[in-house]
Order: sequence, then structure tokens, then C-alpha cells
Amino acid sequence: MTSPDTDLTHSVNLEDKKIKTRLNKLQKRLRREVGQAIEAFNMIEDGDKVMVCLSGGKDSYAMLDILMNLQKSAPIHFELVAVNLDQKQPGFPEHVLPEYLSGLGIPFHIVERDTYSVVKSVVPEGKTTCALCSRLRRGTLYGFAEEIGANKIALGHHRDDILETFFLNMFYGGKLKSMPPKLVSDDGKNMVIRPLAYAREKDIEAYAELKGFPIIPCNLCGSQENLQRQVIKEMLQSWDKLYPGRIETMFRSLCNVVPSHLADPALFDFKNLQRGYAHGIVDDEDACATSPSSVQFMERIDILSL
Ligand code: SF4
Repeated sequence: MTSPDTDLTHSVNLEDKKIKTRLNKLQKRLRREVGQAIEAFNMIEDGDKVMVCLSGGKDSYAMLDILMNLQKSAPIHFELVAVNLDQKQPGFPEHVLPEYLSGLGIPFHIVERDTYSVVKSVVPEGKTTCALCSRLRRGTLYGFAEEIGANKIALGHHRDDILETFFLNMFYGGKLKSMPPKLVSDDGKNMVIRPLAYAREKDIEAYAELKGFPIIPCNLCGSQENLQRQVIKEMLQSWDKLYPGRIETMFRSLCNVVPSHLADPALFDFKNLQRGYAHGIVDDEDACATSPSSVQFMERIDILSL
């Protein structure tokens, strides 16, 4: 007969093993998705200096973690620099990120700018402050990237953010547009990349929890998340429950756009359309993720990490 102590140790070991297996599985999936996005959009090239923006939320922690992981086995050489903008929100735990980043041994900067006071003085009481806050944050970070000579700025938006933005623009803005995985900033000076573009929020959430990232809540400022975004998020989550796979299909549609089958004369020259025109629709099931080049990149990473 085993003693109660032995039984307890055994079940603790089993639980540890389960957690490790789940963590490995999630890490593999995120690595694959980030690697595929990097390749499909040529996000990171040899010699790049990538400024990884770290807010203290689960997404940016996961992004940094996976990028550092890929950096070790990537067939190219690139630098990573973590940057956090301390916006001087009341209650912001200033020590958390420096401690975490020092532990990782990655070069980092904490940029201090009191955008909190600016936002509070400009936005009327009771109105959501996120839009202005994000704009100020973006502006500061873009400027800082130039200061440190980073040629790429990595943001932690994921697949669900991209879909939510797509529906927000469609429902409230009358536009088919979203957050692109890669874009040049309006002033043309910065290249922004979103390496988590193919990653699911629920995977990131689970990964962050298992890794025990020291999360800093964004709403320390007391602002409510954009209500319209919240409504869209709930809509997508309920679809995901009712129709598993719909989110994946919708995201794939963003990678398989057929301008000749929409109705934007600026995008497709309907006026001069002639008989004999081949519309050029390619029935590529997974244009987002499995372009031949992205598979090749991942194979290279997997071989190098063996
Ligand atoms: S919740 Fe607060 S800190 Fe976060 S984006 Fe909105 S205003 Fe800025």
C-alpha cells in the first residue's frame, strides 16, 4: 500500500507533466503561426532591428517570448529590443517590466511620458479615453524607434483583434479594412509588423497563464474598453461557440480577397471591363498561412532547432 504522501507526490507529478505538455503544445503552435506570418509577409529580414512594444498585457508578453524563441533558431540574424511606454497611469507598477526583462537578459528601454495627464485634460469626463491614449502611445513609440535605430516596430495584435477591427470598420465605418499584418506608418518613416497576426487570442491567453507572465492590466486608468469593440468581440465569441471553425474561415477570407467580385470601382476597373477577361480567382484554401515560402521558412526553423 502506498502512503498518502506518495499518492500526493504522484498526482502532483502527473499534474506537472500535463501542464508541461500543454505548454509545449501551445508554444509549438504559436511558434508555427508566428513563423508563418513572418514569412508570408516578409516581416523580419536579415539585419533587422525590431523594437518589440511591450504593454504588460498577455499579447505583448507572448509576442516577445515567441520572437525570442524563434530568434534562437531562425536562419537569419535580427536584433530584438523590448520597449515599454510608462504612460504614468496612477498605480502603474513601475518595477514589474524592468525586473521581468532583466531576468530575460534582453536589451530594453522604459520610456516615460505622461500621456495620462494629456488624455485626462483633453477627453471630457465619462468619455472613453482609449482612442486618444493609443494615438499618443503610437506617436511616442514611433519616435522612439527612430531614436534607437529600430527599422521595424512589432505590435502584439492577434488574429481576433484583426477580425474585430474588420467588423468594426464594416459595421460602423462602412469600409472593408482591418489591421494589416504589416504596414508603413502614415509619415512613411516606420514599418509596423504584427507577428501574432495568425495567432488565436484564446491560445495566447492560455499560454500567458501557463507561463505566468506578470500581467499589468491596461485599465489601471479606469477607462472602459471601447463598447463597440466589446460588442463585436462577444458576437465573434458566440459564433465561435455555435459554429466552430467560422472564425478561421472568416480570417482566411481576409487573405483571399477578390476585388473583381466586390463593388469598389477604385479597386477594380469595372468601367473598362471587357469580355474575355479572366477574373483570376485562385481557390487557395489557406492562402493566409501555408504559402509555399512560409512552409519552407518553418521547415528551416524546425530543422535548425532539432
Ligand atoms: S484602458 Fe487606459 S491605458 Fe489602456 S488604452 Fe484605454 S485609456 Fe489607455
